[in-house]
Amino acid sequence: MPIVSHDAQLDELVARARAEYAERRPTSAHLAARAAEVLPGGSTRSVLDFAPFPFRVAHAEGARLTDVDGHTYVDLLGDYSAGLLGHRPESIRRAVTAALESGWSFGATHRDEIRLAELVCDRFPAIDQVRFTNSGTEANLMAVNLARHATGRDEVLVFDGAYHGGLLYFGAGGEALQAPFRFHRCSYNDLDSVDTVLREHGDRIAIALVEPMLGAGGCIPSRPGFLEGLRARCERAGVLLCFDEVMTSRMSAGGAQQRLGLRPDLTTLGKYLAGGLTFGAFGGRADLMAAFDPAAGGSLTHGGTFNNNPVSMAAGVAAMEHELTADRSERLFVTGEHLRRRLDEALLDTPVSASGWGSLLGLHPTRHEITRPDDLRAVDGRLRELLFFGALERGCYFAPRGYLALSVELTAADLDRFVDAVTQAASDLPVTVGA
Ligand code: PMP
Repeated sequence: MPIVSHDAQLDELVARARAEYAERRPTSAHLAARAAEVLPGGSTRSVLDFAPFPFRVAHAEGARLTDVDGHTYVDLLGDYSAGLLGHRPESIRRAVTAALESGWSFGATHRDEIRLAELVCDRFPAIDQVRFTNSGTEANLMAVNLARHATGRDEVLVFDGAYHGGLLYFGAGGEALQAPFRFHRCSYNDLDSVDTVLREHGDRIAIALVEPMLGAGGCIPSRPGFLEGLRARCERAGVLLCFDEVMTSRMSAGGAQQRLGLRPDLTTLGKYLAGGLTFGAFGGRADLMAAFDPAAGGSLTHGGTFNNNPVSMAAGVAAMEHELTADRSERLFVTGEHLRRRLDEALLDTPVSASGWGSLLGLHPTRHEITRPDDLRAVDGRLRELLFFGALERGCYFAPRGYLALSVELTAADLDRFVDAVTQAASDLPVTVGA
């Protein structure tokens, strides 16, 4: 473990890591310059951008990504959870190809949207009825507006560090574009902060939006009793509770709600449930969803050209019927728990620790206990970057911020390689003294 005594030395290490990365990827460098001409920041999905420039993928297969410069990586990022099934799973490829044969833009209804809705409603205990969207962001925006309509209240309770989509981000870094609702931020895993907000504003709050595990906020699991306490408080205050299960739906066949035995009023979904194709959904209590049913007196409309896109719907049916069995969901959950325990041991003598729940993991250059995003604010971003480059140069890819979403395609040998790579990268991190 190198010791650096000055802040500037840490900057030098980062500059060297970036330069070595860049030198090995001339084609990606060239494409980054081209992209920057027409895409602001060279990107159309901010999270994928990192300095000096992101590598560009040429091919994906199973749990492997190959970039345009010929480097192959074990993919532990799993497209931020959308890639749970790995790359190009055969049954999804077949379903998509068959759907394309029948046409992909009907402007009319079809069978697969019914089947996918049946599969979703059967699986998730708190979803009686569901509507599809194109993304998790849209699903959450719809859930918030449905709750505002149902309660006649306007305001929204959220948690610090939460990510509910491109327009619903409550983290610290960067300037977020925010949907124009009045938000009340509480502290994750802290019911006192919920009590304070409900006491003051409860009668104006329509919905509490919560991730059963803070995902983008650092893979911080909910503490025992936190979600139960939130459920009870929402009930008392007449606030609708929405679980954003865009990430945590992978915790069992019926999501985190099934694993925890909790019943939110509304649930939002996204990511992998359509086999990796564009997808989002919101659903919940039939009496609430009836707002979209004119026959039941509902007055809300819900548009979206691609809501029932035949290709996404067919991929979703194939994913849920053939790939995402209860057994497989359980195995993936156990694999993640086991991997985290291995990391805890392997990283013991390094400055890095692992957080998370099931198959979603966070790697953080800190040894402090992490129960809320504040616990991560002091982490030096340069150490995160060195850890990222250290693992990448050893052939393992995860998010620069240290986020991992396991796919079912990862083998035991892949995970061994990853544990070795991250342990070496963590052991190489400098310890700063006197900075
Ligand atoms: N909610 C959560 C918990 C998420 O993690 C994400 C995406 N990372 C979203 C919502 C937004 O989903 P999408 O990117 O499909 O808009």
